[in-house]
Amino acid sequence: AGAGAGDQQHRCCSRTVHFVLVPMMAQGHTIPMTDMARLLAEHGAQISLVTTPVNAGRMAGFVAAVEEAGLPVQLLELPFPAADFGLPDGCENIDMLQCKDDMRKFLEACGALREPLMARLRQHDLPPSCIVSDMMYWWTSDIARELGIPRLTFSGFCTFASLARDIVYRNNLLRDLTDEEEVVKLSGFPTPLELPKARLPGSLCVPGLEEIREKIYDEEMRSDGKVMNSFDELETLYMESYKQVTDKVWTIGPMCLCHRDRNTMAARGNKASLDEVKCLQWLDSKKPGSVIFVSFGTLVSTAPQQLVELGLGLEASNKPFIWVIKAGNKFPVVEKWLADGFEERVIDRGMIIRGWAPQMMILWHQAIGGFMTHCGWNSTIEGICAGVPMITWPHFAEQFLNEKLVVDHLKIGMEVGVKGVTQWGSEQKEAQVTRNSVETAVSTLMNEGEAAQGMRMRAKDFGIKARRALEEGGSSYNNIRLLIQEMGNEQNASAMSSAGHAVDQQRKSTTM
Ligand code: UDP
Repeated sequence: AGAGAGDQQHRCCSRTVHFVLVPMMAQGHTIPMTDMARLLAEHGAQISLVTTPVNAGRMAGFVAAVEEAGLPVQLLELPFPAADFGLPDGCENIDMLQCKDDMRKFLEACGALREPLMARLRQHDLPPSCIVSDMMYWWTSDIARELGIPRLTFSGFCTFASLARDIVYRNNLLRDLTDEEEVVKLSGFPTPLELPKARLPGSLCVPGLEEIREKIYDEEMRSDGKVMNSFDELETLYMESYKQVTDKVWTIGPMCLCHRDRNTMAARGNKASLDEVKCLQWLDSKKPGSVIFVSFGTLVSTAPQQLVELGLGLEASNKPFIWVIKAGNKFPVVEKWLADGFEERVIDRGMIIRGWAPQMMILWHQAIGGFMTHCGWNSTIEGICAGVPMITWPHFAEQFLNEKLVVDHLKIGMEVGVKGVTQWGSEQKEAQVTRNSVETAVSTLMNEGEAAQGMRMRAKDFGIKARRALEEGGSSYNNIRLLIQEMGNEQNASAMSSAGHAVDQQRKSTTM
Protein backbone atom coordinates (compact mmCIF):
# COMPACT_ATOMS: atom_id res chain seq x y z
CA ALA A 1 0.00 0.00 0.00
CA GLY A 2 1.38 3.36 -0.98
CA ALA A 3 0.85 6.61 0.82
CA GLY A 4 -2.35 7.24 -1.11
CA ALA A 5 -1.78 10.09 -3.51
CA GLY A 6 -2.78 13.43 -2.16
CA ASP A 7 -5.19 11.92 0.37
CA GLN A 8 -3.47 13.33 3.41
CA GLN A 9 -2.47 16.87 2.63
CA HIS A 10 0.12 17.62 5.26
CA ARG A 11 -0.58 20.93 6.83
CA CYS A 12 0.87 22.33 9.95
CA CYS A 13 -1.26 24.95 11.59
CA SER A 14 -3.07 25.32 8.25
CA ARG A 15 0.13 25.95 6.30
CA THR A 16 1.14 23.60 3.50
CA VAL A 17 4.70 22.44 3.89
CA HIS A 18 6.59 23.54 0.80
CA PHE A 19 9.79 21.70 -0.16
CA VAL A 20 12.13 23.20 -2.73
CA LEU A 21 14.23 20.43 -4.27
CA VAL A 22 17.42 21.42 -6.09
CA PRO A 23 18.94 18.43 -7.87
CA MET A 24 22.34 18.38 -9.49
CA MET A 25 21.93 18.19 -13.22
CA ALA A 26 23.24 14.69 -13.82
CA GLN A 27 20.75 11.85 -14.24
CA GLY A 28 22.13 9.84 -11.31
CA HIS A 29 21.38 12.85 -9.07
CA THR A 30 18.21 14.15 -10.72
CA ILE A 31 16.29 10.88 -11.01
CA PRO A 32 16.30 10.09 -7.27
CA MET A 33 15.20 13.67 -6.57
CA THR A 34 12.24 13.31 -8.93
CA ASP A 35 11.39 10.16 -6.98
CA MET A 36 11.80 12.12 -3.74
CA ALA A 37 9.43 14.78 -5.10
CA ARG A 38 6.83 12.16 -5.81
CA LEU A 39 7.13 10.50 -2.40
CA LEU A 40 6.95 13.75 -0.43
CA ALA A 41 4.02 14.95 -2.52
CA GLU A 42 2.20 11.69 -1.92
CA HIS A 43 2.48 12.48 1.76
CA GLY A 44 0.92 15.88 1.19
CA ALA A 45 3.88 18.23 0.82
CA GLN A 46 3.93 20.85 -1.92
CA ILE A 47 7.01 20.43 -4.14
CA SER A 48 8.95 22.85 -6.32
CA LEU A 49 11.62 21.03 -8.31
CA VAL A 50 14.28 23.37 -9.64
CA THR A 51 15.55 22.63 -13.13
CA THR A 52 16.55 24.12 -16.49
CA PRO A 53 14.92 23.89 -19.94
CA VAL A 54 16.90 20.95 -21.35
CA ASN A 55 16.54 18.97 -18.13
CA ALA A 56 12.84 19.87 -17.91
CA GLY A 57 12.48 18.32 -21.38
CA ARG A 58 13.91 15.08 -20.05
CA MET A 59 11.37 15.15 -17.23
CA ALA A 60 8.35 15.09 -19.52
CA GLY A 61 7.49 11.54 -18.43
CA PHE A 62 7.80 12.47 -14.76
CA VAL A 63 5.67 15.61 -15.17
CA ALA A 64 2.94 13.69 -17.00
CA ALA A 65 2.94 11.00 -14.30
CA VAL A 66 2.65 13.42 -11.34
CA GLU A 67 -0.04 15.36 -13.17
CA GLU A 68 -1.98 12.22 -13.81
CA ALA A 69 -1.71 11.30 -10.14
CA GLY A 70 -2.86 14.80 -9.16
CA LEU A 71 0.23 15.43 -7.06
CA PRO A 72 1.24 18.98 -6.02
CA VAL A 73 4.58 19.04 -7.85
CA GLN A 74 5.69 22.00 -9.90
CA LEU A 75 8.83 22.46 -12.00
CA LEU A 76 10.61 25.70 -11.26
CA GLU A 77 12.49 26.27 -14.49
CA LEU A 78 15.43 28.67 -14.70
CA PRO A 79 17.36 29.53 -17.86
CA PHE A 80 20.83 27.98 -17.76
CA PRO A 81 23.66 30.41 -18.57
CA ALA A 82 25.78 27.86 -20.48
CA ALA A 83 27.16 30.31 -23.05
CA ASP A 84 28.17 32.85 -20.35
CA PHE A 85 30.56 30.24 -19.01
CA GLY A 86 32.00 29.06 -22.30
CA LEU A 87 29.78 26.01 -22.73
CA PRO A 88 27.79 25.29 -25.87
CA ASP A 89 24.21 26.51 -25.71
CA GLY A 90 21.98 23.82 -24.29
CA CYS A 91 24.79 22.04 -22.47
CA GLU A 92 22.85 21.66 -19.22
CA ASN A 93 23.71 18.23 -17.89
CA ILE A 94 26.95 16.54 -16.84
CA ASP A 95 26.32 13.81 -19.38
CA MET A 96 26.58 16.48 -22.11
CA LEU A 97 30.06 17.72 -21.16
CA GLN A 98 32.65 17.13 -23.86
CA CYS A 99 35.65 16.81 -21.61
CA LYS A 100 36.74 16.76 -18.00
CA ASP A 101 37.80 20.41 -18.10
CA ASP A 102 34.26 21.53 -18.84
CA MET A 103 33.26 20.50 -15.33
CA ARG A 104 34.60 23.75 -13.86
CA LYS A 105 32.56 25.84 -16.33
CA PHE A 106 29.51 23.71 -15.66
CA LEU A 107 29.73 24.07 -11.89
CA GLU A 108 30.25 27.82 -12.19
CA ALA A 109 27.20 28.09 -14.45
CA CYS A 110 25.19 26.12 -11.87
CA GLY A 111 26.41 28.52 -9.17
CA ALA A 112 25.12 31.44 -11.24
CA LEU A 113 21.59 30.13 -10.66
CA ARG A 114 21.78 31.39 -7.08
CA GLU A 115 20.34 34.89 -7.68
CA PRO A 116 17.59 33.88 -10.15
CA LEU A 117 16.54 31.09 -7.82
CA MET A 118 16.47 33.42 -4.85
CA ALA A 119 14.31 35.88 -6.81
CA ARG A 120 11.87 33.17 -7.87
CA LEU A 121 11.53 31.85 -4.34
CA ARG A 122 10.90 35.33 -2.95
CA GLN A 123 8.10 35.81 -5.46
CA HIS A 124 6.55 32.40 -4.91
CA ASP A 125 2.89 32.37 -3.77
CA LEU A 126 3.73 29.84 -1.11
CA PRO A 127 6.82 30.66 0.96
CA PRO A 128 9.28 27.75 0.95
CA SER A 129 9.49 25.75 4.18
CA CYS A 130 12.91 24.26 3.40
CA ILE A 131 15.41 23.50 0.66
CA VAL A 132 16.62 20.00 -0.08
CA SER A 133 19.73 20.57 -2.12
CA ASP A 134 22.17 18.29 -3.83
CA MET A 135 25.28 18.49 -1.67
CA MET A 136 27.29 19.67 -4.69
CA TYR A 137 25.30 22.91 -4.75
CA TRP A 138 26.97 24.41 -1.70
CA TRP A 139 25.63 27.83 -2.76
CA THR A 140 22.03 26.94 -1.93
CA SER A 141 23.01 27.44 1.72
CA ASP A 142 23.17 31.21 1.08
CA ILE A 143 19.60 31.12 -0.20
CA ALA A 144 18.38 29.12 2.79
CA ARG A 145 20.11 31.51 5.21
CA GLU A 146 18.65 34.56 3.49
CA LEU A 147 15.16 33.10 3.50
CA GLY A 148 15.61 31.88 7.06
CA ILE A 149 14.65 28.31 6.24
CA PRO A 150 16.42 24.98 6.83
CA ARG A 151 18.71 23.53 4.19
CA LEU A 152 18.91 19.78 4.01
CA THR A 153 21.42 18.03 1.79
CA PHE A 154 21.14 15.04 -0.45
CA SER A 155 24.30 13.30 -1.60
CA GLY A 156 22.77 10.31 -3.32
CA PHE A 157 25.17 8.07 -1.37
CA CYS A 158 24.20 5.10 0.76
CA THR A 159 24.91 5.28 4.49
CA PHE A 160 27.94 2.99 4.25
CA ALA A 161 29.61 5.33 1.73
CA SER A 162 28.45 8.49 3.54
CA LEU A 163 30.05 7.30 6.74
CA ALA A 164 33.28 6.37 4.96
CA ARG A 165 33.36 9.76 3.24
CA ASP A 166 32.79 11.49 6.53
CA ILE A 167 35.71 9.66 8.16
CA VAL A 168 38.00 10.43 5.20
CA TYR A 169 37.16 14.16 5.24
CA ARG A 170 36.97 14.67 8.97
CA ASN A 171 40.43 13.16 9.44
CA ASN A 172 41.92 14.50 6.23
CA LEU A 173 43.01 10.97 5.39
CA LEU A 174 43.98 11.67 1.79
CA ARG A 175 45.84 14.92 2.37
CA ASP A 176 49.45 13.78 2.25
CA LEU A 177 49.05 10.74 0.06
CA THR A 178 50.56 10.94 -3.39
CA ASP A 179 50.47 7.28 -4.30
CA GLU A 180 47.02 6.46 -5.65
CA GLU A 181 47.49 2.83 -4.68
CA GLU A 182 48.40 3.48 -1.06
CA VAL A 183 45.99 1.61 1.16
CA VAL A 184 44.05 3.76 3.60
CA LYS A 185 42.59 2.33 6.79
CA LEU A 186 39.36 3.90 7.99
CA SER A 187 39.51 3.72 11.76
CA GLY A 188 36.22 4.40 13.43
CA PHE A 189 34.30 2.52 10.76
CA PRO A 190 32.08 -0.08 12.46
CA THR A 191 33.53 -2.96 10.41
CA PRO A 192 37.13 -3.26 9.18
CA LEU A 193 37.51 -1.13 6.05
CA GLU A 194 40.59 -0.30 4.03
CA LEU A 195 40.89 0.66 0.40
CA PRO A 196 43.51 2.17 -1.90
CA LYS A 197 43.33 5.97 -2.01
CA ALA A 198 42.01 6.01 -5.58
CA ARG A 199 38.95 4.02 -4.55
CA LEU A 200 37.88 6.37 -1.76
CA PRO A 201 35.58 9.40 -1.93
CA GLY A 202 37.55 12.58 -2.40
CA SER A 203 40.07 11.04 -4.77
CA LEU A 204 38.25 11.99 -7.96
CA CYS A 205 40.52 14.46 -9.78
CA VAL A 206 38.28 16.73 -11.78
CA PRO A 207 39.33 20.34 -12.20
CA GLY A 208 36.63 22.54 -10.72
CA LEU A 209 35.43 19.88 -8.36
CA GLU A 210 38.66 19.75 -6.40
CA GLU A 211 38.45 23.50 -5.75
CA ILE A 212 34.99 23.42 -4.24
CA ARG A 213 35.26 20.14 -2.38
CA GLU A 214 35.92 21.86 0.94
CA LYS A 215 33.07 24.31 0.49
CA ILE A 216 30.71 21.45 -0.29
CA TYR A 217 31.78 19.58 2.81
CA ASP A 218 31.72 22.64 5.08
CA GLU A 219 28.23 23.63 3.99
CA GLU A 220 27.10 20.05 4.36
CA MET A 221 28.35 20.07 7.94
CA ARG A 222 26.45 23.29 8.60
CA SER A 223 23.28 21.99 6.97
CA ASP A 224 20.19 21.22 9.01
CA GLY A 225 20.14 17.56 8.11
CA LYS A 226 20.59 14.93 5.47
CA VAL A 227 18.07 13.07 3.40
CA MET A 228 19.18 9.56 2.44
CA ASN A 229 18.03 7.22 -0.28
CA SER A 230 18.31 4.12 1.85
CA PHE A 231 16.31 2.37 4.54
CA ASP A 232 17.19 1.58 8.13
CA GLU A 233 16.86 -2.21 7.81
CA LEU A 234 19.49 -2.31 5.04
CA GLU A 235 22.39 -0.57 6.74
CA THR A 236 21.46 -0.66 10.41
CA LEU A 237 24.99 -0.86 11.79
CA TYR A 238 26.32 1.92 9.57
CA MET A 239 23.27 4.07 10.17
CA GLU A 240 23.80 3.85 13.93
CA SER A 241 27.38 5.08 13.54
CA TYR A 242 26.42 7.73 11.02
CA LYS A 243 23.81 9.14 13.35
CA GLN A 244 26.51 9.60 15.97
CA VAL A 245 28.48 11.93 13.72
CA THR A 246 25.58 13.67 12.00
CA ASP A 247 22.86 15.66 13.71
CA LYS A 248 19.85 14.85 11.64
CA VAL A 249 19.44 12.05 9.13
CA TRP A 250 16.22 11.08 7.41
CA THR A 251 16.32 7.77 5.59
CA ILE A 252 13.33 7.85 3.30
CA GLY A 253 14.21 5.28 0.65
CA PRO A 254 14.35 3.30 -1.46
CA MET A 255 12.87 6.26 -3.28
CA CYS A 256 12.56 4.36 -6.57
CA LEU A 257 9.71 2.44 -4.95
CA CYS A 258 7.46 5.44 -5.53
CA HIS A 259 6.98 3.75 -8.92
CA ARG A 260 4.36 1.10 -8.59
CA ASP A 261 3.52 0.36 -12.20
CA ARG A 262 5.39 -0.32 -15.42
CA ASN A 263 4.28 2.90 -17.06
CA THR A 264 5.85 5.24 -14.57
CA MET A 265 8.90 2.97 -14.31
CA ALA A 266 9.35 3.17 -18.07
CA ALA A 267 8.95 6.95 -18.03
CA ARG A 268 11.69 7.43 -15.41
CA GLY A 269 14.69 9.44 -16.57
CA ASN A 270 15.35 10.02 -20.28
CA LYS A 271 13.12 8.79 -23.05
CA ALA A 272 13.95 5.15 -23.72
CA SER A 273 15.85 4.48 -26.92
CA LEU A 274 13.77 1.41 -27.73
CA ASP A 275 10.16 0.35 -27.86
CA GLU A 276 9.27 -0.68 -24.29
CA VAL A 277 6.56 -3.03 -25.48
CA LYS A 278 9.03 -4.96 -27.65
CA CYS A 279 11.45 -5.11 -24.76
CA LEU A 280 8.76 -6.56 -22.50
CA GLN A 281 7.75 -9.07 -25.15
CA TRP A 282 11.34 -10.18 -25.44
CA LEU A 283 11.57 -10.55 -21.65
CA ASP A 284 8.24 -12.41 -21.53
CA SER A 285 9.70 -14.96 -23.92
CA LYS A 286 12.49 -15.83 -21.47
CA LYS A 287 12.33 -18.14 -18.45
CA PRO A 288 11.97 -16.53 -15.01
CA GLY A 289 15.33 -15.60 -13.51
CA SER A 290 17.26 -16.57 -16.65
CA VAL A 291 18.42 -13.18 -18.01
CA ILE A 292 21.43 -11.14 -16.88
CA PHE A 293 21.00 -7.37 -17.23
CA VAL A 294 24.21 -5.42 -17.91
CA SER A 295 24.21 -1.65 -17.49
CA PHE A 296 26.79 0.85 -16.27
CA GLY A 297 24.74 3.94 -15.54
CA THR A 298 25.02 7.30 -17.20
CA LEU A 299 28.56 8.58 -16.79
CA VAL A 300 31.15 5.81 -16.98
CA SER A 301 33.12 5.49 -20.16
CA THR A 302 34.30 2.00 -20.89
CA ALA A 303 37.17 1.47 -23.33
CA PRO A 304 36.25 -0.14 -26.68
CA GLN A 305 38.52 -3.11 -25.99
CA GLN A 306 36.79 -3.58 -22.66
CA LEU A 307 33.38 -3.56 -24.30
CA VAL A 308 34.55 -6.25 -26.72
CA GLU A 309 35.88 -8.41 -23.86
CA LEU A 310 32.62 -7.94 -21.98
CA GLY A 311 30.60 -8.97 -25.03
CA LEU A 312 32.77 -12.03 -25.62
CA GLY A 313 32.37 -13.04 -21.98
CA LEU A 314 28.59 -12.73 -22.22
CA GLU A 315 28.63 -14.80 -25.38
CA ALA A 316 30.78 -17.51 -23.79
CA SER A 317 28.49 -17.71 -20.74
CA ASN A 318 25.64 -18.88 -22.98
CA LYS A 319 23.09 -17.05 -20.82
CA PRO A 320 20.39 -14.73 -22.15
CA PHE A 321 21.33 -11.09 -21.61
CA ILE A 322 20.30 -7.47 -22.06
CA TRP A 323 23.33 -5.27 -22.54
CA VAL A 324 23.04 -1.48 -22.44
CA ILE A 325 25.79 0.20 -24.46
CA LYS A 326 26.27 3.93 -24.26
CA ALA A 327 29.40 4.11 -26.34
CA GLY A 328 28.05 2.99 -29.73
CA ASN A 329 28.33 6.38 -31.33
CA LYS A 330 31.57 7.30 -29.72
CA PHE A 331 33.40 4.14 -30.74
CA PRO A 332 32.76 3.14 -34.35
CA VAL A 333 35.12 0.27 -33.72
CA VAL A 334 32.66 -1.25 -31.23
CA GLU A 335 29.75 -0.76 -33.61
CA LYS A 336 31.75 -2.47 -36.33
CA TRP A 337 32.59 -5.37 -34.06
CA LEU A 338 28.95 -5.77 -33.04
CA ALA A 339 27.86 -5.74 -36.67
CA ASP A 340 30.67 -8.06 -37.80
CA GLY A 341 29.11 -11.19 -36.36
CA PHE A 342 28.56 -10.66 -32.63
CA GLU A 343 24.93 -9.59 -32.86
CA GLU A 344 24.24 -12.36 -35.34
CA ARG A 345 25.81 -15.00 -33.10
CA VAL A 346 23.76 -14.04 -30.03
CA ILE A 347 20.57 -13.13 -31.86
CA ASP A 348 18.41 -15.73 -30.11
CA ARG A 349 19.41 -14.73 -26.58
CA GLY A 350 21.00 -11.29 -26.50
CA MET A 351 19.35 -7.87 -26.64
CA ILE A 352 21.58 -4.84 -27.08
CA ILE A 353 20.17 -1.46 -26.11
CA ARG A 354 22.06 1.48 -27.54
CA GLY A 355 21.35 4.55 -25.45
CA TRP A 356 18.80 4.95 -22.65
CA ALA A 357 17.23 1.80 -21.27
CA PRO A 358 14.09 1.72 -19.10
CA GLN A 359 16.24 0.19 -16.37
CA MET A 360 13.70 -0.06 -13.60
CA MET A 361 11.09 -1.60 -15.85
CA ILE A 362 13.62 -4.21 -16.99
CA LEU A 363 14.97 -5.00 -13.52
CA TRP A 364 11.45 -5.60 -12.21
CA HIS A 365 10.67 -8.19 -14.87
CA GLN A 366 10.58 -11.75 -13.58
CA ALA A 367 12.91 -12.92 -16.37
CA ILE A 368 15.81 -10.96 -14.82
CA GLY A 369 17.95 -13.17 -12.62
CA GLY A 370 21.09 -11.07 -12.22
CA PHE A 371 22.39 -7.53 -12.65
CA MET A 372 25.90 -6.65 -13.75
CA THR A 373 26.29 -3.08 -12.47
CA HIS A 374 28.88 -0.32 -12.12
CA CYS A 375 27.55 0.11 -8.56
CA GLY A 376 26.23 3.65 -8.82
CA TRP A 377 24.03 3.87 -5.73
CA ASN A 378 20.79 4.29 -7.68
CA SER A 379 21.44 1.19 -9.73
CA THR A 380 22.53 -0.70 -6.64
CA ILE A 381 19.43 0.12 -4.63
CA GLU A 382 17.25 -0.56 -7.67
CA GLY A 383 18.84 -4.02 -7.87
CA ILE A 384 18.18 -4.49 -4.15
CA CYS A 385 14.53 -3.50 -4.53
CA ALA A 386 14.09 -5.81 -7.50
CA GLY A 387 15.55 -8.58 -5.33
CA VAL A 388 18.21 -9.62 -7.86
CA PRO A 389 21.81 -10.58 -7.01
CA MET A 390 24.57 -8.55 -8.62
CA ILE A 391 27.92 -8.76 -10.36
CA THR A 392 29.84 -5.68 -9.32
CA TRP A 393 31.99 -3.69 -11.74
CA PRO A 394 32.81 -0.35 -10.09
CA HIS A 395 34.59 2.34 -12.11
CA PHE A 396 35.10 5.40 -9.88
CA ALA A 397 33.98 7.49 -6.91
CA GLU A 398 31.99 5.77 -4.17
CA GLN A 399 31.15 2.84 -6.45
CA PHE A 400 33.93 0.83 -4.79
CA LEU A 401 32.33 1.35 -1.39
CA ASN A 402 28.96 0.27 -2.75
CA GLU A 403 30.67 -2.86 -4.07
CA LYS A 404 31.98 -3.61 -0.58
CA LEU A 405 28.54 -3.16 0.93
CA VAL A 406 26.93 -5.46 -1.64
CA VAL A 407 29.59 -8.17 -1.68
CA ASP A 408 31.06 -8.25 1.84
CA HIS A 409 28.20 -7.09 4.04
CA LEU A 410 24.87 -7.70 2.36
CA LYS A 411 26.32 -10.74 0.57
CA ILE A 412 24.03 -10.32 -2.40
CA GLY A 413 26.64 -10.01 -5.10
CA MET A 414 30.06 -11.03 -6.37
CA GLU A 415 32.91 -9.04 -7.83
CA VAL A 416 33.80 -9.34 -11.49
CA GLY A 417 37.36 -8.54 -10.41
CA VAL A 418 38.11 -4.92 -11.31
CA LYS A 419 41.80 -4.16 -10.84
CA GLY A 420 41.94 -0.40 -11.04
CA VAL A 421 39.96 2.81 -11.19
CA THR A 422 38.52 4.16 -14.45
CA GLN A 423 38.09 7.82 -13.53
CA TRP A 424 35.20 9.85 -14.87
CA GLY A 425 36.15 11.55 -18.11
CA SER A 426 39.32 9.51 -18.69
CA GLU A 427 38.92 6.44 -20.77
CA GLN A 428 41.06 3.43 -20.19
CA LYS A 429 43.26 2.32 -23.01
CA GLU A 430 42.93 -1.39 -22.36
CA ALA A 431 40.59 -3.95 -21.00
CA GLN A 432 40.97 -4.55 -17.25
CA VAL A 433 38.56 -7.40 -16.98
CA THR A 434 39.03 -10.37 -19.28
CA ARG A 435 36.31 -12.25 -21.13
CA ASN A 436 37.11 -15.24 -18.89
CA SER A 437 36.38 -13.24 -15.74
CA VAL A 438 33.09 -12.07 -17.24
CA GLU A 439 32.14 -15.60 -18.26
CA THR A 440 33.03 -17.02 -14.84
CA ALA A 441 31.08 -14.36 -12.97
CA VAL A 442 27.98 -14.66 -15.17
CA SER A 443 28.01 -18.46 -15.08
CA THR A 444 28.50 -18.53 -11.32
CA LEU A 445 25.74 -16.04 -10.59
CA MET A 446 23.20 -17.41 -13.05
CA ASN A 447 23.73 -21.10 -12.27
CA GLU A 448 22.25 -23.08 -9.43
CA GLY A 449 25.39 -23.34 -7.29
CA GLU A 450 25.17 -22.94 -3.53
CA ALA A 451 26.85 -19.54 -3.46
CA ALA A 452 24.47 -18.12 -6.07
CA GLN A 453 21.44 -19.60 -4.34
CA GLY A 454 22.46 -17.92 -1.10
CA MET A 455 22.91 -14.56 -2.80
CA ARG A 456 19.59 -14.93 -4.59
CA MET A 457 17.76 -15.74 -1.37
CA ARG A 458 19.28 -12.83 0.54
CA ALA A 459 18.60 -10.45 -2.38
CA LYS A 460 14.92 -11.45 -2.41
CA ASP A 461 14.73 -10.93 1.32
CA PHE A 462 16.17 -7.39 1.09
CA GLY A 463 13.70 -6.68 -1.73
CA ILE A 464 10.85 -7.56 0.62
CA LYS A 465 12.32 -5.47 3.45
CA ALA A 466 12.73 -2.53 1.06
CA ARG A 467 9.07 -2.62 0.15
CA ARG A 468 8.05 -2.89 3.80
CA ALA A 469 10.07 0.20 4.67
CA LEU A 470 7.81 2.31 2.48
CA GLU A 471 4.52 0.71 3.38
CA GLU A 472 2.30 2.39 5.95
CA GLY A 473 4.05 2.15 9.32
CA GLY A 474 7.39 1.15 7.75
CA SER A 475 10.63 2.91 8.78
CA SER A 476 10.97 5.12 5.70
CA TYR A 477 7.24 5.82 5.58
CA ASN A 478 7.43 7.08 9.15
CA ASN A 479 10.57 9.08 8.43
CA ILE A 480 8.89 10.85 5.51
CA ARG A 481 6.06 11.89 7.78
CA LEU A 482 8.45 13.06 10.49
CA LEU A 483 10.47 15.02 7.96
CA ILE A 484 7.42 16.84 6.64
CA GLN A 485 6.16 17.45 10.15
CA GLU A 486 9.48 18.82 11.33
CA MET A 487 9.84 21.14 8.33
CA GLY A 488 6.31 22.37 9.03
CA ASN A 489 7.19 23.04 12.66
CA GLU A 490 10.35 24.92 11.63
CA GLN A 491 8.22 27.04 9.34
CA ASN A 492 5.79 27.84 12.12
CA ALA A 493 8.63 28.63 14.50
CA SER A 494 10.23 31.03 12.04
CA ALA A 495 6.83 32.59 11.24
CA MET A 496 6.23 33.03 14.96
CA SER A 497 9.65 34.50 15.60
CA SER A 498 9.23 37.00 12.76
CA ALA A 499 5.72 37.83 14.05
CA GLY A 500 7.24 38.23 17.51
CA HIS A 501 9.92 40.43 16.02
CA ALA A 502 7.23 42.60 14.37
CA VAL A 503 5.35 42.93 17.68
CA ASP A 504 8.60 43.88 19.48
CA GLN A 505 9.31 46.47 16.80
CA GLN A 506 5.81 47.86 17.19
CA ARG A 507 6.17 48.01 20.99
CA LYS A 508 9.48 49.79 20.62
CA SER A 509 8.04 52.37 18.27
CA THR A 510 5.01 53.04 20.52
CA THR A 511 7.13 53.50 23.64
CA MET A 512 9.59 55.82 21.97
N1 UDP B 1 19.36 4.69 -15.91
C1 UDP B 1 18.34 4.27 -16.72
N2 UDP B 1 18.65 3.89 -17.98
C2 UDP B 1 19.91 3.89 -18.48
C3 UDP B 1 20.95 4.32 -17.62
C4 UDP B 1 20.65 4.71 -16.34
O1 UDP B 1 17.17 4.24 -16.32
O2 UDP B 1 20.10 3.52 -19.63
C5 UDP B 1 19.05 5.17 -14.55
C6 UDP B 1 19.27 4.12 -13.49
O3 UDP B 1 18.11 3.36 -13.31
C7 UDP B 1 19.63 4.96 -12.28
C8 UDP B 1 20.33 6.18 -12.86
O4 UDP B 1 19.94 6.22 -14.23
O5 UDP B 1 18.46 5.40 -11.63
C9 UDP B 1 21.85 6.08 -12.80
O6 UDP B 1 22.27 6.32 -11.51
P1 UDP B 1 23.45 5.53 -10.82
O7 UDP B 1 23.64 6.10 -9.47
O8 UDP B 1 23.20 4.08 -10.89
O9 UDP B 1 24.70 5.78 -11.74
P2 UDP B 1 25.42 7.08 -12.35
O10 UDP B 1 24.90 7.21 -13.72
O11 UDP B 1 25.09 8.25 -11.48
O12 UDP B 1 26.84 6.69 -12.33
